[in-house]
Amino acid sequence: MAASSSTIFDSILAGDIPCERIFEDEHVLAFLDIQPLSRGHVLLIPKQRAAKLHELDEAHAAALGRALPRLARAVMQVSGCEDYNVLQNNGAPAHQAVMHVHFHIIPKCAHKGLELIWNTENLKDGPELGSAIRAALA
Ligand code: AMP
Repeated sequence: MAASSSTIFDSILAGDIPCERIFEDEHVLAFLDIQPLSRGHVLLIPKQRAAKLHELDEAHAAALGRALPRLARAVMQVSGCEDYNVLQNNGAPAHQAVMHVHFHIIPKCAHKGLELIWNTENLKDGPELGSAIRAALA
């Protein structure tokens, strides 16, 4: 797989661009989003350069999973909100602007936060689709 291009998040990781750092360990960095949807909107990124989630190695993926609930607890405590969205976009058509994996933690309260349009349809081919995805996982 081709290496991802450098992004502004590489500059943040390198310390060349400032950010409001919240948490850091060997594999991940969390900082405040510069254009928050609500107060406490945090971004969590891996230190591995990868554009999309499925490109991550196990160590970085695991570190993201460890950090997310911990960050969410802190953000909720400080924002005073009980509700929040965790958003992770992959690809420009899926609203990804910065092509380095990142999770948004977005408090949802007092009409501030993420707005979603959720255009659903009924599941038609569950067994066939499930079987195809299970085979791809194997
Ligand atoms: P996405 O649409 O999921 O790619 O979101 C990218 C996010 O990165 C947006 O919410 C931006 O506000 C945020 N962002 C871009 N540049 C910076 C920066 N220098 N510091 C903090 N957040 C940033």
